Amino acid sequence: MGGVRGAKGLEIIMKFQERSFLVKEGYLRRGDQKRFYPFVFEVPEGIGEIRVKFSYSPRILKNKEKNYQMIGGAIEEYVKDYPQKEKVSTFLTLIKNAYPLIKNAYPLRNLLNLSLYDAKGSFVGRWDQNSERPVRVSSTYSSPGFTSCKIIPGFWKVEMETHAIVTEECKYRLEISLIQRTNGENFSPFKKKLINPSSYRDNKGWYKGELHVHSNHSDGKNTLPEIIEGTKREGLDFIALTDHNTVSGFSSIPMREDLLIIRGMELTTYYGHALALGITSFIDWHSKERMRNINDIIDEVHLQKGLFAIAHPFCIGDPVCSGCTWKLGNIDYQKVDLIEVWAGCWKNRKIENYKSFRLWDKLLNQGLKVVGISGRDWHDVNERKSDGIPKTFVYADSLSEDEILKGLRKGQVFVSSGPQLFFSAEYEDKRYICGDEIKLLERKHVSFQIQVENLKELCQLQVIKNGLRFLSRFLKEGKSQRIEFSDLPEEESWYRCEIYTKEDKELL
Ligand SMILES: [Zn+2]
Ligand SMILES: [Zn+2]
Repeated sequence: MGGVRGAKGLEIIMKFQERSFLVKEGYLRRGDQKRFYPFVFEVPEGIGEIRVKFSYSPRILKNKEKNYQMIGGAIEEYVKDYPQKEKVSTFLTLIKNAYPLIKNAYPLRNLLNLSLYDAKGSFVGRWDQNSERPVRVSSTYSSPGFTSCKIIPGFWKVEMETHAIVTEECKYRLEISLIQRTNGENFSPFKKKLINPSSYRDNKGWYKGELHVHSNHSDGKNTLPEIIEGTKREGLDFIALTDHNTVSGFSSIPMREDLLIIRGMELTTYYGHALALGITSFIDWHSKERMRNINDIIDEVHLQKGLFAIAHPFCIGDPVCSGCTWKLGNIDYQKVDLIEVWAGCWKNRKIENYKSFRLWDKLLNQGLKVVGISGRDWHDVNERKSDGIPKTFVYADSLSEDEILKGLRKGQVFVSSGPQLFFSAEYEDKRYICGDEIKLLERKHVSFQIQVENLKELCQLQVIKNGLRFLSRFLKEGKSQRIEFSDLPEEESWYRCEIYTKEDKELL
């Protein structure tokens, strides 16, 4: 087919059998996972709507033995480099140890997704595994995951992403139909709302929120209004909407709410996930395949004045959670703004969080200022398990997207599942809070203050200096208590406070 614009390389050009209906079926095998399959189709003049229906089967791996074998392999990888490995050597203990994490993993699932690009190559949206309904895109309406856009004639592209194939064979079926534009056709319009650029609350202070939330625009269970309700129930001041590889949810962010919703996206690559926070438009997350590397992607996030956060870096990986472990080793950590050091509930994800803290220490010891945050990776606001779930607290001049991002960038942050910890220092009559840098004029003592609020049980406070334990104290339960110490810091020193329960050493 000569003269096809926009069709290169491996792209498969599809022709409509009928005037406006097209079906493409095929089989994928295990070796076909982590690839892209682009299908190009021509949209003639006069089309008002594109419908895409996609399905694949089987969805799950039924064979019990194979499940155990593959899940076991993933757990072994997961516990690697964890110092308590000797305790989790047998398969059964392994299962027990990682049980909360893998109970949702059984049975293992195939995971295919679809992205749609228009005739200019612009991203239109992404179909997520949970959606069984056909996708509809027109200039006035779009299904969740997609943004309404003009149906321009030319060569459009559907790209199949094979995130995980765990069965021997997986059959897919892609159906595209083109609907003629007719006068008077009335789709329920998708109202575009502008985001309120001013602040939601004007006062300086600590604001708490969740920076990792999925809606029904990707694999989350809730619509944005449901998320807003759920978030208010949790008493949060802000959230970041971080759907997988799509920004279609931005247009439904309401103009005025008590809650600040930061525009974000979870860059869901085959070799690691990262949050782009405070962005204004879609970020192309493809790395290797597009001859770009992850550092170019980070530059793009920064160009949009956003922050780049590595998400759940040591989460259990393939085939339990496909692409979830951070494996993009060529990343330039100098470009990384944030890292999710506390993913989900500490008790359940102790192993990976332990490893994330060690990576964080390593980066800080290299003199890099990477800020630690938490991530609940919220997919359902109605799940009733907020115990042990961390929240990210940010000190900001006001509750607005700009100021919260500024606070995050500076590291004026603490993460907690309950108590509040305010870490400050004094040097040469000047006061500093966490995230601040003290310029040492001469070798003089710095005095530090730790204020702890709302401690519900006897706990242990640890001050970490340059990656090593520097000070340890017991803290009684109580509303408010203060600890002070002083130190003569060497150049490039850093300090962090951690509170653990006395009994089971859970981070609070
Ligand atoms: Zn993720
Ligand atoms: Zn996520």
